[in-house]
Amino acid sequence: MTEQTIQDELVDSIRTIRDYPKEGILFRDITTLLGNARAFRRAVDALVQPWAGSKVDQIAGIEARGFILGGAVAHQLSAGFVPIRKKGKLPHETVRIAYSLEYGLDEMEMHKDAIQRGDRVILVDDLIATGGTAEAACKLLKSMGANIEAACFIVDLPDLGGRKKLEELNVPVRTLVEFPGH
Ligand code: AMP
Repeated sequence: MTEQTIQDELVDSIRTIRDYPKEGILFRDITTLLGNARAFRRAVDALVQPWAGSKVDQIAGIEARGFILGGAVAHQLSAGFVPIRKKGKLPHETVRIAYSLEYGLDEMEMHKDAIQRGDRVILVDDLIATGGTAEAACKLLKSMGANIEAACFIVDLPDLGGRKKLEELNVPVRTLVEFPGH
């Protein structure tokens, strides 16, 4: 199969919901991709392809859709999995970072002992929009000494400029499909 055919298949498997969660947003719903066995496998295979056979210590997934993809990616690369969660959800000692959303601030956390200094880490989430969420996750991982090999997403919304934010942190970005707008 050509790369274009795979991309078309992934695009077709993602459902778009207009005006969710609020007016003007085109919500790219990947639950339909996850429910399509072939598309799910192709997406995970394509995400990990550059690292097949290389040593990756940990996959960090962003709550909540990043957990589903990150778990599958970790399995495929024989790596561990580290959850990055909204504040107050993790039971042990955490490190925390505040980041801005469209309206106001939020905070995310990971366990203090989840990453060893020098670990090779790949960050995974379903979609990058403005990049604010992934940027905060990268800063959190770097503060614990992670070497971030890459940040991977199924969907890029290039009009919102998230990729550039991560590249400014020297984090290479891998995405599989693009949608215009937001
Ligand atoms: P951002 O911090 O702006 O890059 O937003 C990324 C996070 O918000 C990801 O965890 C996405 O799941 C979610 N998100 C943002 N915009 C959309 C969208 N249009 N469709 C689906 N999810 C979105």
